[in-house]
Amino acid sequence: MPTVRYETYSCEIRENESLLDGLLRQGAPIAHACKAGSCGSCMLRAVDGTVPARAQQGLKDSWKARGYFLACMCRPESDLTVAEVGSDARLGATITGLHHLSLDVLRVRLVCEAPFDFRPGQYVTLLRDDGLARSYSIASLLDESELELHVRRIPNGRMSGWLYEEAGPGARVQLQGPSGECFYVAGREDQPMLLIGTGTGLAPLYGIVRDALKTGHRGPIHLFHGALRTEGLYLREELAALAVGHANLAYTPSVLQDDGPIDLMIASRFPKLDGWRGFVCGDPTLVQSLKKKLFLSGIASRDIYADAFLPSAP
Ligand SMILES: Cc1cc2nc3c(=O)[nH]c(=O)nc-3n(C[C@H](O)[C@H](O)[C@H](O)COP(=O)(O)OP(=O)(O)OC[C@H]3O[C@@H](n4cnc5c(N)ncnc54)[C@H](O)[C@@H]3O)c2cc1C
Repeated sequence: MPTVRYETYSCEIRENESLLDGLLRQGAPIAHACKAGSCGSCMLRAVDGTVPARAQQGLKDSWKARGYFLACMCRPESDLTVAEVGSDARLGATITGLHHLSLDVLRVRLVCEAPFDFRPGQYVTLLRDDGLARSYSIASLLDESELELHVRRIPNGRMSGWLYEEAGPGARVQLQGPSGECFYVAGREDQPMLLIGTGTGLAPLYGIVRDALKTGHRGPIHLFHGALRTEGLYLREELAALAVGHANLAYTPSVLQDDGPIDLMIASRFPKLDGWRGFVCGDPTLVQSLKKKLFLSGIASRDIYADAFLPSAP
């Protein structure tokens, strides 16, 4: 069994155990959340030894070159010495504003200590002082002075509870990232686009739509925002005004109890989507179902961009 060393911790990784679970079993304080290779919270650096390619899948080339990998996806085949990621992957930030967008959605604004390059729609991992880490999608544009995140309040949620109840303007955090492939790519300005988000799945789409319009996208853009109840819809006025100002943007808020499941509504309104580009973000089950439906309606898989907001695992 391979041995893994991290600071003063050392453990033998058991069969079918990830490096993350092995180190957590020893009590090592490794930040983590989804444990499924999606959120990026458990990224570490290999100092000595080789990490399997699967543990680096989806990471930026510059991070791969530095030996960065996701501990939850790493099943080492030989001995490894690992360490925290370097300052090139994280930077300090200060919370500047916390405003309610609805009863259970908070707009969190931050200013970064150094220039932070990202694409609207990508996500960052927010790290608290004690190492608690959770990922949030970026709703702001690169030229806006503050980074904007939309955080839904989760009952007994550690990070969202902290942001709601304790953190105030001036609170310091660290950001890791940006990560993810869910963003607007310029080049096919006449291509029709369909964007569907549920809950705070609107956050990345809010960034992507504004980025596309600013970049000069001319094709039709259909933005759907789904919520269980009317109170769950937010930024309605801003989005309606954005649609009034842009003839190619259509914004449709949708409530489950009035309109039925959003994936069925999309399937009946858009039975043929050949040549379109699709974005789906939010609830993992719905994201999975919508990805499949968009593909079956004709969108090429390379034109489907998705972020499933996987919750933290025990
Ligand atoms: C790529 C990515 C992007 C994300 N972007 C956003 C975003 O833009 N906005 C946003 O609000 N969230 C986003 N999330 C989810 C976010 O990272 C956290 O999981 C969420 O905020 C809950 O963290 P918490 O610490 O408050 O709750 P935790 O302490 O992690 O959870 C408390 C309990 O609630 C459960 N739980 C957590 N989330 C849910 C849920 N949605 N439904 C049911 N049970 C749940 C947990 O399993 C746990 O038992 C994203 C996740 C990923 C992977």
